[in-house]
Amino acid sequence: MLECKNIAVFYGRHRAVEDVSMQIAPGEIVVMLGSNGAGKSTFLRAIAGQKAKASGTVVMDGADISHRPSHEIVEAGIALVPEDRGIFADMTVQENLILGAHPRRARALEADNMARVLGLFPRLAERPKQLVRTMSGGERQMVALGRAMMSAPSILMLDEPSLGLSPLLTSELFRSLVKIKDTGVGIFLVEQNAKQSLAIADRGYLLDNGRIVGADSAAALSRDEKVRHAYLGAG
Ligand code: ATP
Repeated sequence: MLECKNIAVFYGRHRAVEDVSMQIAPGEIVVMLGSNGAGKSTFLRAIAGQKAKASGTVVMDGADISHRPSHEIVEAGIALVPEDRGIFADMTVQENLILGAHPRRARALEADNMARVLGLFPRLAERPKQLVRTMSGGERQMVALGRAMMSAPSILMLDEPSLGLSPLLTSELFRSLVKIKDTGVGIFLVEQNAKQSLAIADRGYLLDNGRIVGADSAAALSRDEKVRHAYLGAG
């Protein structure tokens, strides 16, 4: 269980995230919707220990990890797939995946995790030696997701995974997320793509100007007039 309470993050004097609380349990998909500049990436980076928090706490499975460095947050079971995907373009698929198994928590399980990731993404299994820079956008996103899964996370966080993907590739990717969720991993997704992300999510939060302005089940958010207007292109 990941619990974030009253997180605030500044860039200089600019408050990018203000008093944000959220929690996510194993085996659920939670989406945070927000438009450009709402503070979604900043919030993820603050959880992952990549951006300092001005205040607030992050508790993972009962342990306070608010002030731990990013590599210890990975060891605590939280993996982040950043918006730029964070993969090494001049390395092969297999090399990228193996790098993901570097954390102590994952080393002993490398072979099992590799089998699980290749089962999830048969296209990667077919091309272990392909250089990532020669892959399509959707395939690169699979490598990024696969690499994060190699660290054996309990909570997987993804920063706009659908960015640059067609609706078809997005639905293929999101189907993989449902399979990962079914193995008991909690998935925290930040997205501008409300329609497809709400379709796979259990719950959602709305972030506007760094603040939470709504939280509900994904089904209720899909029906909500304000959400439909702001994020689903209705009206
Ligand atoms: P997007 O969907 O466009 O990626 P976002 O919701 O992820 O947006 P953030 O990238 O978290 O938003 O940015 C939140 C706010 O913080 C924005 O106003 C942004 O301009 C500002 N910001 C982000 N990074 C920095 C930085 N390194 N220095 C100064 N301001 C920043």
